[in-house]
Amino acid sequence: MREFLKTLEDDSRVLEIEEKVSTYLQICEIMRKYPKDTLIFQNIRETEMKIVSGICNTREKISQAMGVEVSGITQRIVEATENPVPIDKYQDAKKFFDISKKPDMTELPVPTYYKKDGGPYITAGVIIAKDPDTGVRNASIHRMLVLGADKLTARIVPRHLYTYHQRAERNGEPLEIAIAIGMDPATLLATTTSVSIATDELEVANNFQNGEMGLINCETVDLEVPECEILMEGKILPYERAEEGPFVDLTDTYDVVRQEPVIELDRVHYRDNSLYHAIMPAGNEHKLLQGLPQEPRIFQAVQNTVPTVKHVVLTGGGCCWLHAAVSIQKQTQGDGKNVIMAALAAHPSLKHCVVVDEDVNVFDPEDLEYAIATRVKGDEDIIIVPLARGSSLDPCAAPDGTTTKVGVDATKPLDKKEKFERVSQTL
Ligand code: MN
Repeated sequence: MREFLKTLEDDSRVLEIEEKVSTYLQICEIMRKYPKDTLIFQNIRETEMKIVSGICNTREKISQAMGVEVSGITQRIVEATENPVPIDKYQDAKKFFDISKKPDMTELPVPTYYKKDGGPYITAGVIIAKDPDTGVRNASIHRMLVLGADKLTARIVPRHLYTYHQRAERNGEPLEIAIAIGMDPATLLATTTSVSIATDELEVANNFQNGEMGLINCETVDLEVPECEILMEGKILPYERAEEGPFVDLTDTYDVVRQEPVIELDRVHYRDNSLYHAIMPAGNEHKLLQGLPQEPRIFQAVQNTVPTVKHVVLTGGGCCWLHAAVSIQKQTQGDGKNVIMAALAAHPSLKHCVVVDEDVNVFDPEDLEYAIATRVKGDEDIIIVPLARGSSLDPCAAPDGTTTKVGVDATKPLDKKEKFERVSQTL
């Protein structure tokens, strides 16, 4: 993360917050005022350690970290997930970090973001573990509620880490884990990609790093982690569960309280000047990290149907989760409708999808609205699919998980193209 932060600092794109602030609500209040800035909180009331936030809260910052244009992020993710690169550089935790000690969570500036939150939440923590059956490594971000000096609980949705824990639990064993906080945006993004259970997300990250990524060997667990600001080592206990939540999710609404696994920490490492990375729930950083890696899935599904697809964007206003905008070079009448069906099926959480021609900038909400205003005829261009499986985060969803999906075909009819020509673009 340091190298990337340095490039932002060199461009004067980092805002230093000098006033003394509390991790309880105050940090979040300030974060909300600067949704697109990178912030460093210099004076935290409760700890010596400082907080950084917003290292990847815009598409521009993410594209910079990946070394591509904003419009090239999708293709870069496709390339990396299809070509993971094995890692062969290692160093020991004790060499990389200055401080190694028994964990005491009160030494970390873990914010409580909102009043009704279940407590202080770690939001940029990547959990690294190995499959007890196959040994394949997994890296994924989980929100973690601090329960005590060395205890956490994490929301673990039924994907790879969940399966690992189930396999360990079946044998009555704890699952060894490492928790890394404070990585560069490309590595963080790799941990949120939806690759198969046989693929190591850190090797995807190594593709982003052009094969130059090094890992740190943990001290008390048989695991390796990317270079980070803070490293915690421990285990997910078998059989034990604790209350997790409430916590604000992508949709800026409260997620329910659940019984989730308990993590016991044995060791913590950091550097003399380590920065604690805090991701504000429902902020741009959260939305982009979760949503952006879904765009390639939608892109590939649409491409199978309409090969002339140009861009797929999960828009910010749609929480980078519920709304997709897709641009195509329309070749045959009806293309738009087929795109809608492919996109809605590719990302099951998708609720609304709008399809536009390639002369519309899908990254610009005002341009998308222009297309809807001038190219949509309500009785012909809107598809409504009731009772489809939707997102658990959609406040409109029924208790059985179904919702209504809507597709809007905002492409020009092919036989009247000249009527829809954007004059300003033809000058
Ligand atoms: Mn995995």
